[in-house]
Amino acid sequence: MKTVDIVIVGGGPAGLAAAVAAKKAGNDSILILERDHELGGILNQCIHNGFGLHTFKEELTGPEYAYRFIKQVYDLGIEYKLNTMVMDISKDKIVTAMNREDGMFQISAKAVILAMGCRERPRGALNIPGYRPAGIFSAGTAQRLVNIEGYMPGREVVILGSGDIGLIMARRMTLEGAKVKVVAELMPYSGGLKRNIVQCLDDYGIPLKLSHTVVDIEGKDHVTAVTIAEVGPDRKPIKGTEERYTCDTLLLSCGLIPENELSRSAGVTMSPVTSGPVVNESLETNIPGVFACGNVLHVHDLVDYVSEEAGRAGQNAVKYINDGCKDESSAETIEITATEGARYTVPSSINPERMDDLLTVRFRVGDIYKNSFVSVYFDDERIMHNQKRIMAPGEMEQIILRKSQIQEHGGLKKITVKIENE
Ligand SMILES: Cc1cc2nc3c(=O)[nH]c(=O)nc-3n(C[C@H](O)[C@H](O)[C@H](O)COP(=O)(O)OP(=O)(O)OC[C@H]3O[C@@H](n4cnc5c(N)ncnc54)[C@H](O)[C@@H]3O)c2cc1C
Repeated sequence: MKTVDIVIVGGGPAGLAAAVAAKKAGNDSILILERDHELGGILNQCIHNGFGLHTFKEELTGPEYAYRFIKQVYDLGIEYKLNTMVMDISKDKIVTAMNREDGMFQISAKAVILAMGCRERPRGALNIPGYRPAGIFSAGTAQRLVNIEGYMPGREVVILGSGDIGLIMARRMTLEGAKVKVVAELMPYSGGLKRNIVQCLDDYGIPLKLSHTVVDIEGKDHVTAVTIAEVGPDRKPIKGTEERYTCDTLLLSCGLIPENELSRSAGVTMSPVTSGPVVNESLETNIPGVFACGNVLHVHDLVDYVSEEAGRAGQNAVKYINDGCKDESSAETIEITATEGARYTVPSSINPERMDDLLTVRFRVGDIYKNSFVSVYFDDERIMHNQKRIMAPGEMEQIILRKSQIQEHGGLKKITVKIENE
């Protein structure tokens, strides 16, 4: 069986950044396994601009952003295999994969980095009544059809869900000559970035109906109309509020699900909130030497954060190997608890001995908060109280913890992140 120091599962932005960082940290035995026929992940189909503002201080398209990392992988001579599907990862880090040239093969790794990204929540998970006609697509599938395959899914469009991909596709379909009639969102707030609501809906006069859902789809062979209705606080449709839109296409943008089948079968502990692995300050899972980053860990809003986080996973994997692949799972850690408006944190525990001088902790809120405070408590003492003009579930929040601050607070047991009104 071939032995490799670091196997990276997934060659999207997360896998690429992890590989580049691991190589720059001094490891020469890295292998990226990617099931697609090219590196770059989902960014290859995101041809709009707006990527890389943080990382490169430039507005790049998705493929341009991905290529900045792909080029580094080429230049640094990092090994990768395309068209290669990882089928299994065992607890002792034997990776089983398959492709046309090698058939089924196994690699023994000292460290594994999970970077499999996420997929869209399908229609089946949405319980929309009506027939199952043609003309219903996930927004990501439509994005692929239009941007890569060169097909238009339809001409008159209704979109359910206001996640970023739905918003981007509202603009994309409009630019390609379709009429996007409405974007309906179940929640009283959008799941997407504010800048996407402005640039993709407002700029094109596309209405966004919050607290609305699809209650009927007409058409036996192909979609002919969609009816939406307002929902109450219980998210149930309110009788009498129905609005019917004739259309030939319904796009669904109703959330992303981290691709964690491999992680689960390997025995990685999962968070019920993020549907991603539970990780510590090193982005290491409960299995020593198995790290996670990018959308497989938690769904990110900006790819810049994916790259930054994945870089840390790559560096930490090298550190783990250089330190002799020690099992530190029984080391004393400080739990980070998210409560009162904060839904989760990544990471969710810290080993102060191993943390960097500065540690970025990312989280999302569960509602819209205006002029509220992000508060951090060390046990019962409030040590951070930062006012934010607006916080929304569609935008990721972050705090920075200092190692010195934690060390000064001897015997610290628990860190709590919460949202406070004053
Ligand atoms: C449809 C869609 C559209 C998006 N559009 C935007 C956008 O417009 N703007 C934006 O900022 N963000 C967008 N995102 C979010 C975007 O996914 C992230 O910003 C970023 O691409 C996440 O990087 P990643 O490497 O974690 O995941 P991905 O880019 O999804 O890469 C994961 C890679 O892992 C591979 N993989 C998965 N399982 C296996 C396996 N078992 N074996 C081998 N390889 C495997 C996949 O083929 C893929 O290449 C979109 C997401 C989706 C799903």
